[in-house]
Amino acid sequence: MSNELAVIEARIRDAGKLANVSDDLVELITKPIRVLEMSLILKRDDGQRSLFSAWRAHHSDVLAVDGMKGGFRIAPDVNRDETVALAAGMTIKTALVGLPLGGAKGGICADPKLLSESEIDRLVRLYARGLNPHLGETGNLTDIPAPDLNTNPHHMAIFADEISRLRGGLVAGCVTGKPTELGGLPGRLSSTGFGVCALAELAAGSLDGLLVAQEGFGNVGRFAARTAHESGARYVTIYDTGLGGCLYSKAGIDIPALLEIVDEHGPRAFEFYASQRGAEFGDFSWRDELLKAGGAIDLFLPCAASQTVTHGAAEKMVALGLKYVSEGANNPTTPEADREFLENGVVLIPDVLANAGGVAGSYMEMSKAASMSIPTEHETLEAVRGILTTAWEHVTSACDAYGTKSLRLAGDALAISKIAAAHKVRGW
Ligand code: NAD
Repeated sequence: MSNELAVIEARIRDAGKLANVSDDLVELITKPIRVLEMSLILKRDDGQRSLFSAWRAHHSDVLAVDGMKGGFRIAPDVNRDETVALAAGMTIKTALVGLPLGGAKGGICADPKLLSESEIDRLVRLYARGLNPHLGETGNLTDIPAPDLNTNPHHMAIFADEISRLRGGLVAGCVTGKPTELGGLPGRLSSTGFGVCALAELAAGSLDGLLVAQEGFGNVGRFAARTAHESGARYVTIYDTGLGGCLYSKAGIDIPALLEIVDEHGPRAFEFYASQRGAEFGDFSWRDELLKAGGAIDLFLPCAASQTVTHGAAEKMVALGLKYVSEGANNPTTPEADREFLENGVVLIPDVLANAGGVAGSYMEMSKAASMSIPTEHETLEAVRGILTTAWEHVTSACDAYGTKSLRLAGDALAISKIAAAHKVRGW
């Protein structure tokens, strides 16, 4: 079993104990209901064939009145256990924020950097074809995927197009996070990053003047940065392996300018920004750089990959005066780093709460299709803020009720108690 899966299973067991759920029910909640494993055979641009492994985990449908939700990613380290761990995270997340959805997740083990755009599109079509029999019936879909690492609205459109070809008619509701031309929701794309900052604001009172460090400047990271910047926060550093490494400026990074440069210059964006604006750029450790310079950070936003925040990284950030962490990425913090933050009074908003704006936005995309209404981006984001604020209040109250300062443990315990209650009312 991978570390990530072992960690989330241990979290569910700890939460179950705290919420006083019986051991047999906790074991039932821990395990996925099914995991699909597929071999996708892709015909490459040069005519050769390559084989890619892919998975979809349906973790829990006990609360899935409107289906199971979870993104699918394309990355070289995707594997079965990671997919199951991420699906378990979705089960906790949807229960915690009170959405009538179950938890799922998917992934294709492939390095998108080594594939052409049309090869990636064909891989997404193969994935859709493999999943098609397991998504439920048109009009009553039971698994509705969404974007995740290295997948975006374009890939959702390709997925929906393939399902539509297979089933006949336009089955746009088989995914969320679609382009607006295909029934996507204004504000769904920005909802995850927006929520990451809305929660940081609830924890800190205000983001105005806070010094920020961030990992990842993709879908989640870009919109987190836009929101934090608009709320008056100052970015000291952003680290993104796909954009050239670390960008660092003690005077602060101009986020609107950086967003434009990323659109224009892609992987060389940080280099271009640094040369134009006098910032530092390169493959160095921003934590060491800041410590040497006697710098400080107040807020850390991990918005990239899993398990990037190690104990050593946490120790350095504590020494830099860190006060708040809002986890945009799923599972970015190792348990040792988590303990380090807790022991040093750093308020950590866990992924199952911090990035739940994404699934809340997805749920609104599904509701919009059902009600045929067209909200604006502002209306979507304010509704997301409402859902997250209620969840924040429930989790902070749960901290008092369960006698813990850990928002992660209290949130997990609250979610597991709701899932256990649903199992009981269904007679399990
Ligand atoms: P993305 O592919 O759009 O962006 C990820 C960015 O992180 C890219 O710019 C990439 O270059 C960078 N990156 C990758 N590995 C890195 C590393 N080790 N260190 C620094 N930078 C790295 O993906 P995304 O949709 O923004 O997802 C990011 C995280 O947020 C994932 O953990 C995902 O599961 C989680 N998440 C996404 C959503 C969503 O709506 N897209 C919702 C909830 C959670």
